[in-house]
Amino acid sequence: KAKNDPVENIRVYKSQMSQDFAEWFYVENDLQKALMQNEFELLYQPQFHIDGEKVCGVEVLVRWNHPQRGMLAPGQFLPVAEDTGLIVDLGHQVLKQACRQMKAWQQTYDTKIPISVNVSMKQFMQKDFVTKVENIILETGLAPTCLELEVTETVTMDIERTYKVLQQLKKLGVKISLDDFGTGYSSLQHLNELPFDVFKVDQSFVKKMVHHERGRAMVHTMLKLGEIFNVKVVVEGVETEFEWETIKTYGNPLLQGYKFSHPLTEDQFSNLLRQTPAED
Ligand code: C2E
Ligand code: MG
Ligand code: MG
Ligand code: MG
Repeated sequence: KAKNDPVENIRVYKSQMSQDFAEWFYVENDLQKALMQNEFELLYQPQFHIDGEKVCGVEVLVRWNHPQRGMLAPGQFLPVAEDTGLIVDLGHQVLKQACRQMKAWQQTYDTKIPISVNVSMKQFMQKDFVTKVENIILETGLAPTCLELEVTETVTMDIERTYKVLQQLKKLGVKISLDDFGTGYSSLQHLNELPFDVFKVDQSFVKKMVHHERGRAMVHTMLKLGEIFNVKVVVEGVETEFEWETIKTYGNPLLQGYKFSHPLTEDQFSNLLRQTPAED
């Protein structure tokens, strides 16, 4: 009935909207508290050598352990955090915690693997972003070369500013990773001009590999581009044997995906470091 009744449709639509609004409002309200009460938890997804065994890196992925709603994924709260600007403080907390944790792991397990941390556009564009990164490095004692900051292609929308910030970060010795590579705004020109150290092939390309030659050709091309640019390449979202086998025929990237490991808790990742050969 509702489907063919425009008035009813509007009513449904409106109530959905106000529900979304209420949801948004609660998340924003709770986010402020969550930041002060340390309700955020970090998960660690290992990145493997093409052999699928050696751990060569790790990406930090934030979760919100909400007192009433349980564990929330980034998609459930990051948009609100972005929109309200709370992402700046959240991102800072995550970065600091990640560096502290990596330093501890490096000491305990005698490894030099790097840690990758996602940085939102808003956080990246803050005037004091580079200073904050520098302070965190000094405070935690993590070698700057062991820190990879993941930015998305959105940052190329302000190419001049991004260029400056990246130069400053590089001066600190920090590595810059281009996340979700292939899905965003950057032209080949941008890729050529900006000093990225890592390309992360987006998982959407990997998903297409099984379907047609064109999907495979896209991944192949991105790996080649990485080789030509002399950057490290990480392929995200590798889930199947087929994807892994095919990628092997194209090159030598690092692999991050459920085929090898889901994001792990701190304890689980410690166990992994204890058990498997790490590579530096
Ligand atoms: P991302 O940086 O591209 O991270 C990879 C996402 O893919 C993660 O989702 C990870 O759990 C998921 N993933 C890994 N392997 C596989 C796989 O084999 N199959 C599939 N289907 N998915 C896989 P997650 O943890 O939900 O994070 C989503 C996004 O949220 C991240 O995408 C990143 O953009 C953002 N994010 C996460 N943590 C942070 C953070 O601390 N700060 C900021 N600014 N953004 C973050
Ligand atoms: Mg990422
Ligand atoms: Mg990604
Ligand atoms: Mg993503």
